[in-house]
Amino acid sequence: MSNVRYLTSRELQNDQGKVTGMIKVLVPKDSNDAKVKYVCPMCLKGEDTTAEWKKPFAVECKFCGHKMKLSKLLAQFKKDKKAALAKGG
Ligand SMILES: [Zn+2]
Repeated sequence: MSNVRYLTSRELQNDQGKVTGMIKVLVPKDSNDAKVKYVCPMCLKGEDTTAEWKKPFAVECKFCGHKMKLSKLLAQFKKDKKAALAKGG
């Protein structure tokens, strides 16, 4: 997988804080097209799609219009990691 520029997968929470969806983003090297696979946490539908790779990265659910932002997810991840460190593991 050396021809991959960026790869991430995140769990997505609905408005009640439950993990009901996920998003996977893959950006090949020398490409500005992100390959996206998601399951929307709000309507539970999903699809494979392609979106322009830019920051902050966000994909709109084509079924219900819910916006899934990657920057927010990264911030959430950092927060979780910090909390884990505070607990000593
Ligand atoms: Zn949706």
